[in-house]
Amino acid sequence: MDSIYNVIIITSGLCLGSFFNVLIWRIPRGESIAWPPSHCTGCGFKLKAYHNIPVLSFLFLRGKCCSCNAPISFVYPVIEIFTALGLIIIWKLSGFTFAHPWYQNIIPGLQIISLILLIPISVIDIRHYIIPDRFTLPFLALALALSFVPGHLSPAQSFLGALCGGGSLFLLGVIGTYVLKKGDAMGMGDVKLMAYLGALWGAQTALIGIAFGAFFGSVAGGVMILTKKFDNNEHRIPFGPFLAAGTVLSVFAGEALLQAYLRLIGL
Ligand SMILES: [Zn+2]
Repeated sequence: MDSIYNVIIITSGLCLGSFFNVLIWRIPRGESIAWPPSHCTGCGFKLKAYHNIPVLSFLFLRGKCCSCNAPISFVYPVIEIFTALGLIIIWKLSGFTFAHPWYQNIIPGLQIISLILLIPISVIDIRHYIIPDRFTLPFLALALALSFVPGHLSPAQSFLGALCGGGSLFLLGVIGTYVLKKGDAMGMGDVKLMAYLGALWGAQTALIGIAFGAFFGSVAGGVMILTKKFDNNEHRIPFGPFLAAGTVLSVFAGEALLQAYLRLIGL
């Protein structure tokens, strides 16, 4: 029975990854998600259903459009595979089960979605330096509204989570702008993302996630300065992917790492 579940989850993950590819291309360009149907971005050739099978179509077409031979980026199948792996790992780690009554699955389900959505959010941030509001604000509203359903975070905890997640990052941005003496050290997209994750996961998870994200970001920034790939004015580092990695780590290992840290400093 377990292996059937695994096959279903991995297949769903591949299809979800395929959908993420659509979101990653269209949302930053302000295009509709539903219309027009999938087409070659080179020649406009409308893809047939069998051109839309995750990973397999890429292999079958040998990475080229069947109409104009324009190369298809290998990033597409990579995102599909990464999403499938991410979904099955998150699913296993979260211990999600359908054994509970359906209404008790809403918040855990939304939490799994919030983590897997970090994939398209990160790719868009890397490419365009933005985190579109469509990925954050509706989910922030949903998380706050659902906190009134008993059984998970209370409304007070959820609002506090949003305030701590978004507020601390906003403050970090204000300090960063003052210290670095340049505008917009922190994007408002990052602030909204952490407000939403804080509302869904709670203040502690969000704050530990930001701490890890800042740490990963500074390590990456340091490496880029040392290798002279980053000259502080021309280039920017998108913070979204680091916040995403930090939050995932915080969700699954935050409590254990916090306890270990408190023991280390003797508290
Ligand atoms: Zn084409």
